[in-house]
Order: sequence, then structure tokens, then C-alpha cells
Amino acid sequence: MAEHSGKAYESDAKQTDEKTGNTTPVAHSCGHDVHIMGLIGALEAFNFHKDAWSGTLIAIFQPGEECSGGAQSMIDNGLKYKIPLPDVYFGQHVLGVIPGAHVGTKPGAVFTTASSIKIKLFAKGSHGSMPHFGIDPIVLAAHIILRLQFIVSREINPNEMAVITVGRIDAGTKSNIIPDDATLYLNTRAYNQDVADKLHASIERVVKGECEASGCLKAPEIEYYDEYPLTLNNDEAYEQVSSAFDEYFGERHLKLPTQTASEDFSIIPDALGVPYCYCSIGGFKDYENAPGNHNPAFAPDIECSLDTGMESLVVAACSSFVRDIQE
Ligand SMILES: [Zn+2]
Ligand SMILES: [Zn+2]
Repeated sequence: MAEHSGKAYESDAKQTDEKTGNTTPVAHSCGHDVHIMGLIGALEAFNFHKDAWSGTLIAIFQPGEECSGGAQSMIDNGLKYKIPLPDVYFGQHVLGVIPGAHVGTKPGAVFTTASSIKIKLFAKGSHGSMPHFGIDPIVLAAHIILRLQFIVSREINPNEMAVITVGRIDAGTKSNIIPDDATLYLNTRAYNQDVADKLHASIERVVKGECEASGCLKAPEIEYYDEYPLTLNNDEAYEQVSSAFDEYFGERHLKLPTQTASEDFSIIPDALGVPYCYCSIGGFKDYENAPGNHNPAFAPDIECSLDTGMESLVVAACSSFVRDIQE
């Protein structure tokens, strides 16, 4: 996306507008350069103070968090056989929702599950003046979209969080042609895998039922993509990290509110079968006016994000060495 941070260290990557010839800096605007530098800084600190600790520290620089394939590709490429099995796995991301120079973590669910779903409806095209010769996929899609709104409000326990969004509809070309088919693109979120499974079962039931009600001759195609697991902090790993953060950061350690975003880091600890703890760091000194991730101005302030990013990784890792010594 275009970057409009106005910062001296804005992205070097530039996009040129073909018509005007103007160049704009482009960035992912999510702070992943902060994570890279925080981890490199932590490795330098551990290397510099080799005499002060013992154990094995493994740094994972995971690509492709955004398109959901990065963690899985590391597992598919045999990460398990390339590193010793860790006792605990830590993940970190910079966010605008906590103040700069602060760290945030929480027990239990941190980020939601996420799934994208492509649904193709097969109807029967006709002339717009002769609807009785066709099966109208646009009317069908409208019914499905409306019916989907009742899943969260009528089928999910009100104590649970769930989101279904229809973000895109592709259908038709002209006002007087009833198209042959229509495609819907959905996105779901939940803080509980059982709720996510229930959402998906209900979506499939509604879509198939409405297709049947419209008299479709072919069953709909339902395809899941860009799927993210639930990010769930392990209780023991959370206790260990959070007490070390309390000791080191004091009031700069906050309880992170649950986030409705999603990430794929936990695919790695899940595949390795080891406990996981995720933490966030704040990216902006002026927290009140901090942009959200993926805002064109999301270029975190250097000192407060890099220092805190590095320190929190060192403190989290040290907390697990301390546990080893105590045991
Ligand atoms: Zn991002
Ligand atoms: Zn990100």
C-alpha cells in the first residue's frame, strides 16, 4: 500500500504512477521491520553476554504472516528437523493499540480464528424480461446474504464472539441479463475453534438450503482459503512471561485487550507441540493519535518500538532460562 508516514525512514520501495510519472513510497505498513530488528537486537545482546546464560536460543524469522502461508511453509519445509525442540515459543507483533514503550500480553485467546470462503452459486441465466426461463442467482445471493446475518444473532451463544462478513459479490454484466452464476466472498472470525466450526457448518447449511429453495440444478462450490488458527496463549508460558515482564517493565507491562485480528505464528508451536506465548509492543509515543496497522501512516517510532521489542524478547527468553535453573 502507499505509505504516507512522512518519516525520514519511510520505505525505499517506490511505485511509479504510469500516467503522471509520480513516485510514491509503498510499504506493508504493519511494522514487520520492527520485529526483524528487535530479534536481531536480542540475538546481539545474548551473543554479547554469552557468559551470563546457558541453554539454546532459537530465533525464527517467519515470512508471509500476512497471506497466512509463512508459518505453514516453514513447517512444510521441515523446520522440525532443522532445530532442536524448544521448551517454549514466543511471538511478537507491534500494534497501535497500546502505547509506545509498553508491552502487552494476556492469558488465553489473543487473536481470533479467521477464514475466507469463496462460494460459487450455479443458477440459470435468462433475458431480464423473461425471469421465468431462468433461476436468478442475484436474488438467490441476496437471500443468502440476509440469511447469513441470523447465524451470529440467532445461532451463536451470546457469550461468544463471532463475525461473518460478506466482503465481495461478483455477479452479472448488464441490467437486462440474468446471469448464470454468482460468487460470494465471506470472512469469519471467532475466539473459539468450536464457534468457528459452528459458523462454517451453519454457513454451508444456509447456502445449500437456499440453493435448493431456488431450484438450482447444481450444488454450490464452497472453498476455504487464507485460514488462520486461533492464537491461544498457554497458561504456564503466559504466567512465566508476564511475571518477568512485571519485574522488568513494571507499569509499562499492560494486559492486552483481545484483538479481532488474526495471525499465523502459532502454527509453528502447534506443529512442534510446544507451549506458546504471544506479546505485543506499542509502536507510537503519541498513543492517542497512533494509526492502526495497515494505515498509510503506520511507521512505528524508532526508539520506543525497537528498544521495547528487543528488551521484551530478551526478558521473555531469560524467563525460560530462569525456569530451567529453578528446575
Ligand atoms: Zn499486516
Ligand atoms: Zn503483520
